[in-house]
Amino acid sequence: MAERDFDLFVIGAGSGGVRAARFSGNFGARVGVAEERYLGGTCVNVGCIPKKLLVYASHYAEDFRDAAKGFGWKVAVEEFDWSALIENKNREIERLNGVYDGLLSGAGAAHIEGHGKIIDPHTVEVAGKQYTADTILLATGGWPKLPELPGIEHAISSNEVFFLEEQPRRVLIVGGGYIAVEFAGIFNGLGSDVVQVYRGPLFLRGFDDDVRAHLAGEIRKHGVDLRFDTNVTEIEKTADGLRATLTDGSTLDVDQVLYATGRAPLTDNLGLENVGIETNAKGAVPVDEYSRTKVPSIYAIGDLTDRINLTPVALHEGSCFANTLYNDTPMKPVHRDVPAAVFSQPPVASVGLTEAEARETYAEIDVYDSTFRALKHTLTNGEERTYMKLIVDRKTDRVVGLHMVGPDAGEMVQGFAVAMKCGATKAQFDSTIGIHPTSAEEFVTMREPRKS
Ligand code: NDP
Repeated sequence: MAERDFDLFVIGAGSGGVRAARFSGNFGARVGVAEERYLGGTCVNVGCIPKKLLVYASHYAEDFRDAAKGFGWKVAVEEFDWSALIENKNREIERLNGVYDGLLSGAGAAHIEGHGKIIDPHTVEVAGKQYTADTILLATGGWPKLPELPGIEHAISSNEVFFLEEQPRRVLIVGGGYIAVEFAGIFNGLGSDVVQVYRGPLFLRGFDDDVRAHLAGEIRKHGVDLRFDTNVTEIEKTADGLRATLTDGSTLDVDQVLYATGRAPLTDNLGLENVGIETNAKGAVPVDEYSRTKVPSIYAIGDLTDRINLTPVALHEGSCFANTLYNDTPMKPVHRDVPAAVFSQPPVASVGLTEAEARETYAEIDVYDSTFRALKHTLTNGEERTYMKLIVDRKTDRVVGLHMVGPDAGEMVQGFAVAMKCGATKAQFDSTIGIHPTSAEEFVTMREPRKS
């Protein structure tokens, strides 16, 4: 049989696809990668990276206005220039697109521009040309999902928000997940009037209940008009912007309505029907524990498979795939104890179980928590409070959940995630010396469990 064009053909050059292509290429596979949009996918272009840059930008107002004065600085703040921020951000993203291109070519992978579609178990079509491969990897990611309602065409999603020509002065944000709370903080920090509506009683479903409640209080202190049990029923265009009608019948006049109501796996015109792959109820491609679909030569990773939709998880799934197929090292991705952060203001980070999950899993648990004012705010008069929580399985003394709301939560919880991975016990936390004065030391000095 004639040799196929590639050992591996990857559809989608986002975080997962590039990681898999690069590792496979470096292990010696001949790799082709099709991408129809931008190299680096959602994370690099319209997700994690530009979002974090905007989060940094939005912190300056508070630092200049409140914090600086308390520490003796007299700062004259001129105006904030949205276009300068977006221009600088775009330049950095372009640089990263180049870095991703270099990663692929450095691993000897061919980058083919265009939409990839499966024709049969070993053939992919891109821009009218067919390529054959022993293995096909689907890594097309996800796409914002907006509900149907009158006037929804006037709303934007996270795909557009990064490219607005002007900073909206009045913003309505719909949703209570990662993206909604992050952008509420960004626009609020940059000085816009922000209303965030969430359809349920408390946002960030899936996170620990105390974390959710604490964050809601902090976000309100920061000035976001946060409304629970509220949704939008209609959006109309008006002479000077948009008018949204809410479920309580009231209306809001704003400049932009940002929908952050989740993302759906991106399977449009992927040719799944040509190989008999059916998506599950959430529209995701089902895979086994090695990320293999029901077609033996076709694998899928990342948001397309809707396991845990986070960039580092897609990277992990990509590494496992490449090691399994091209490095003689079978590796199943592990989806336990995955740390995550929400870059809200203040940020949230967690690893392990929520209290509710721990109560279901273990016969008896102990909960330790602490709410305090970070040292910095003793001079800023800031009202912000940090919250930390540990959940311990009483039988084994293992720390099974660790949560935080407060500055640098992501930076701190990353380190503690290693300890959790190693099965650290509460006694080992207690025997760890703190670094003083930090907020992090609180995690190793919580002595008394909460009375149940
Ligand atoms: P999420 O799934 O996190 O949240 C979606 C939110 O929209 C939920 O609050 C949901 O409510 C609500 N919602 C869903 N449908 C409707 C509707 N029809 N009307 C009103 N509200 C609705 O999605 P995001 O869009 O925030 O983020 C997408 C994914 O991107 C996340 O799953 C996350 O994995 C990833 N991400 C990660 C980040 C990070 O790691 N820091 C940052 C940004 C994104 P309900 O809870 O009631 O279902």
